Amino acid sequence: MSPRPLFGFGLFALFALCLLFGVFYGDKVVWKFKLDPYRQPMPILMYHHMLPDGSDCNDMTVTPSKLRQDFDYIRKQGYTPVLPRELLDPDSMPEKPILITFDDGYASNYHLLFPILQEYGFKAVICPIVCMPDLLATEFCSWDMYREMNASGLVEIGSHTYKLHNLDVNGSYKPGEPNGIQRLDGESDADFQSRVLDDIQKSYDRLTEELGVAPTCFAYPFGVREPAADALIDELFPVSLLTWSDTADLYNGTKRMPRWTVTMWEPVYNLF
Ligand SMILES: [Zn+2]
Repeated sequence: MSPRPLFGFGLFALFALCLLFGVFYGDKVVWKFKLDPYRQPMPILMYHHMLPDGSDCNDMTVTPSKLRQDFDYIRKQGYTPVLPRELLDPDSMPEKPILITFDDGYASNYHLLFPILQEYGFKAVICPIVCMPDLLATEFCSWDMYREMNASGLVEIGSHTYKLHNLDVNGSYKPGEPNGIQRLDGESDADFQSRVLDDIQKSYDRLTEELGVAPTCFAYPFGVREPAADALIDELFPVSLLTWSDTADLYNGTKRMPRWTVTMWEPVYNLF
């Protein structure tokens, strides 16, 4: 074969390679080989409470053994757990980010989750019902626990409202009360402001006062969205989380992202 066709073939192969990278990595062809973290799907896992191994679990609880299985899978797949505030800085984004979230702020997050995060070097965000540490509710984390976890760098504390989550201090559901931040039938703007918007602001203020750092993440209680609250939530929290089951796409922004609910009976590898 003469040199000229070989040169032509080489050029064609180079072009094809560039095209392949472009197709598979979904960004500008040829001059952009590095993965763009904002063009990647990011799974978000939603957990709540933990119980010791051997306990009877429901959809809100997992045991340490199950969490370790999930974490082993996450690590094996090459994911790096990130904190919500890290989503705001492209330079701190790993190539395969995953967000691990715990809602409500049960004391088990400190006693059972936190040691496992330390063991794996994994990060997670906890979004507590912020009134619970103010009420000294022993089923839930105290301010000291939040301060210790926050200082570790492995845990970020977000908001799940101040007291708009209808759980009592024992963590029992209170039937018949409004679900999260939803507007009541016929509720006036003034009443909605004082009942819902002031509550969301208070959760932000209390977290900032107690932890010395402003929260960046809001988890909608029960995944119930209220359009009249979106503007305030977006102003206070650059990251927000719903509960519809899907993998988040950071290209669409960091607000009202979907989450995968993880239970004892749902292995993480079944979800995404
Ligand atoms: Zn909740």
